[in-house]
Amino acid sequence: MTCQKCNNPIPDDMLACPLCVREKSDAALREHQRYYLRGVAAGDTSLRVARLRNHEQHIELFGDDDTAFCGLDLSSRVVQQRLRLPYGSATMATICAECRDIVDRGVKEASE
Ligand SMILES: [Zn+2]
Ligand SMILES: [Zn+2]
Repeated sequence: MTCQKCNNPIPDDMLACPLCVREKSDAALREHQRYYLRGVAAGDTSLRVARLRNHEQHIELFGDDDTAFCGLDLSSRVVQQRLRLPYGSATMATICAECRDIVDRGVKEASE
C-alpha cells in the first residue's frame, strides 16, 4: 500500500504511514511546546534544564524530559542534575547553543 498523502510505501504490517504519523506527532509536540513557551515568554513558566556529567546544559522539552530542544536523547546520557531556571540571558548563557537558539526563537514567536 502507498500513502495517499506523501506517496511513501506503507509496510504491510502497519496500518498508517509511519512518516505521516511521525509528522503528526511532531506537530502536536511543537504545538505543546508553543503553549509552554508562551508561559516562558510571560515569565510564568521556568525552563527545565538538564545538567549532564560533562557540564553541558540542555533545555528539556516540556512534557518530555528525556529529550532536549536540540534533539539530544537525554535518556542515553548521564543527567547529573535537573534544574528549573528562569528564562533570561543569565540562564541562556549557560545552555547548549542549539537549545538556546530554538528556545529563544520559540519564546520570541510565542510573545508576538
Ligand atoms: Zn504518508
Ligand atoms: Zn541542547
